[in-house]
Amino acid sequence: MTEKMLKFTNVDQQNPTKRKIGKRVDDFKEIYDQFINDKAKEQSSRCSQCGIPFCQIHCPLHNNIPDWLKLTAEGRIQEASELAHSTNNMPEICGRICPQDRLCEGNCVIEQSGHGTVTIGSVEKYITDTAWEKGWIKPIEIKNEKNQSVGIIGSGPAGLACAEELRKEGYKITIYDRYDRPGGLLIYGIPNFKLEKFVVERRTKLLRDSGIKFKQNLNVGKDILIQELQKKHDALLIATGVYKSREVNLPGHDLKNIFPAMDFLIASNRKGLGDKVEDFDKGILNAENKNVVVIGGGDTAMDCVRTAVRQNAKSVKCIYRRDKENMPGSSREVMNAEEEGVEFIWLSNPKKFIGEENVAFLEVEKMKLGEPDSSGRKKPEAIPNSSIQIKTDIAIKALGFDPENLPKLFNSPELSVSKWGTIKIDLITMETNLKGIFAAGDIVRGASLVVWAIKDGRDAAESIQKFLKEKELGKNKAA
Ligand SMILES: Cc1cc2nc3c(=O)[nH]c(=O)nc-3n(C[C@H](O)[C@H](O)[C@H](O)COP(=O)(O)OP(=O)(O)OC[C@H]3O[C@@H](n4cnc5c(N)ncnc54)[C@H](O)[C@@H]3O)c2cc1C
Ligand code: SF4
Repeated sequence: MTEKMLKFTNVDQQNPTKRKIGKRVDDFKEIYDQFINDKAKEQSSRCSQCGIPFCQIHCPLHNNIPDWLKLTAEGRIQEASELAHSTNNMPEICGRICPQDRLCEGNCVIEQSGHGTVTIGSVEKYITDTAWEKGWIKPIEIKNEKNQSVGIIGSGPAGLACAEELRKEGYKITIYDRYDRPGGLLIYGIPNFKLEKFVVERRTKLLRDSGIKFKQNLNVGKDILIQELQKKHDALLIATGVYKSREVNLPGHDLKNIFPAMDFLIASNRKGLGDKVEDFDKGILNAENKNVVVIGGGDTAMDCVRTAVRQNAKSVKCIYRRDKENMPGSSREVMNAEEEGVEFIWLSNPKKFIGEENVAFLEVEKMKLGEPDSSGRKKPEAIPNSSIQIKTDIAIKALGFDPENLPKLFNSPELSVSKWGTIKIDLITMETNLKGIFAAGDIVRGASLVVWAIKDGRDAAESIQKFLKEKELGKNKAA
C-alpha cells in the first residue's frame, strides 16, 4: 500500500465518514459546527451578486443561488433553505455530489477572474443539513387528496422528484421499484464516502411520511405488467435508469474475480448499510489486500478506485486508453483519486486477462494519440510490441452503462425507443408514444447526472398534472 493510501486506514469501513481513532470530531462538535457555520457565512459573503448570475444559468435547476447565498451571509438560514427547496427536491444531495466544477461553480464570475469560486455546493449542503437538524423540513400535508393516482416505475432521483411534486398537488402516488430500498443509484451506485446513505434514507422517509406509497422488490415487466399498472393508475412515469453494463469481451473474460462495476459498488454500499453480503464477507467482492485493476476512465471508474482504496487494497490501478486530458471523468474526481494513491496507467488498452482459474494478470498494450475522430477527441492508436502485464487479483469493468431493452422487458413492443435504446419522448410534454405514459431521467437521456434527473422529474410532474387535469375535465364533460 502506498504512503498516500495509508492515511485512509483509520477510516471505519462500516461508516467511512467516521475515523476509527477516538471521537475527536464528535468531542469537539460545538466548535466544529461553529467553524462550519462561519465558513458558510464567509463563503456566501464572497458572492459579488453580479448582474448576470452565470452560476444560476449553468445550474440545470436554475437554483436562485445569489439570493440564498445572500440570505446565508445574513444568517437567515431557514429562508435560504426554503428558497433552495423551491427549485430542488434534494439540495443537500446535489450540494454533495453535483460536479460543481462543470456546472455552477465552474461558471462563478469570481472563479473566472482567477480568485477561486464561491463554494456553492458546500453552502447548499450546509443550508439544507441545518434545516434537517433544526426540524424545518416537514412531510407534505395534504388537505384535499385528489381521486386520481399516478404510478411511478423507479425510485431514483427522477422518480422521487416527480412523486414529491405531484404529491404536493394532492395526487395519490405509488412508486414501484425492483430494489429492496428506494433511491436508485443514490442508494446503491454512488459510494457512501461521496453521499452518506442516511442522507438518502431521510429523504425517502419524508416522502413515505407524506403519504407516498413505495412498493419495493417489484420488478415491472416480470412481477407485474405495465398494462396492469396502466389499469390501476391515471398516468404512469417510467424512470428506470440505465443498468446494462458495457462489456469487455477480451480473451480470458470468464476467469474468476472479474466483476462489473455495479456488483462491486452494490456490495460495498450494502455493507455500509449494515446488510449481510456473503460475497464481501468471503473476500470475493472485497478489495482488502488485493491488487485491484479498474478498466475505464469515467466517474464510475473513479468511484470504484476510491472505494478500493477505502477497502485497504494492496494497490489500485486505473487503465484508460487515452491520456489524462482526454479522460471523460470529472478532473476533480481524478485529482482526488491521484491524491489517494491510485495509479493511473494512461494510454493503455486491455488486450487479455491471464490466469488459471482466477485472473492473475491483465495484459495491456500501450497507445499513442493520433488524429481527432468524429467526436473531436484524439483517436488512440496501438504502439506495436508494447504490451505489459499488470498483476491483478480483482479486475473491475467500469466502461459505462446502456439502457436495457425496455420494450422487451415490459412486453410493450410498441414503446418507441431511440437507436441507443433510450425512451423517445415528446420533448415538451415528456410523454412517450403511449398515451398517459411519461418518461424521465437516465432512461431518456442516457447515463447522466442526479441534478438532471431531478430536473426531468419536476418537468414530468408538471406535464402529468396538465394531462390529469385534462383527463378529469374530459370525464366531467362526458358525464
Ligand atoms: C457509480 C455511479 C456514480 C455516480 N455518481 C454520480 C455523482 O457523483 N453525481 C451525479 O450527479 N451523478 C452521478 N451518477 C449518475 C446518477 O446516479 C444518475 O444520473 C441518476 O441516479 C439517474 O437517476 P434516475 O432516477 O434516472 O435513475 P436511477 O437512479 O438509476 O434509478 C432507477 C430506479 O429504477 C429501478 N428500476 C429499473 N428497472 C425497473 C423495473 N423494471 N421495475 C422496477 N424498478 C426498476 C431501479 O431499481 C432504480 O431504483 C453516478 C452513477 C453511477 C452508476
Ligand atoms: S444543484 Fe448542482 S449545479 Fe445547481 S447549484 Fe446545486 S450544486 Fe450547483
